[in-house]
Amino acid sequence: MNEEGKLTGVSCKSCRATMSPPRPVCSRCLSTDLEWLELPKVGRIVAFSEIHVANDAFQSSVPYVVAIAELGEIKVPGIVKGAEIGQLRVGSNIRVETREASARESSTNDLSQPAYWFRLVS
Ligand SMILES: [Zn+2]
Repeated sequence: MNEEGKLTGVSCKSCRATMSPPRPVCSRCLSTDLEWLELPKVGRIVAFSEIHVANDAFQSSVPYVVAIAELGEIKVPGIVKGAEIGQLRVGSNIRVETREASARESSTNDLSQPAYWFRLVS
């Protein structure tokens, strides 16, 4: 995620693969000729699950719902806030919401304050 609270990735100029989070080398063809890509703030769910057992940092927040959302060409994992698992479907539309830059400077391991999350849109 960049300073403006937008999710970012990279696009490989050699093979056109897209990746997020950004990395210096293409994971498909090992090219270093990559360009920045700003991910759309809306997408759709391609998989989801409810977490009941988490590691120590997240256990106090269970149960919570996680999903993989397709944002443009890139699939990104995230927590779904404000929804029960029964409300989710593969194909459900979501929007990406991000923590404000000032809040992001504090703890990054706090599940109640992730850097970004998904919210269902009707
Ligand atoms: Zn490539």
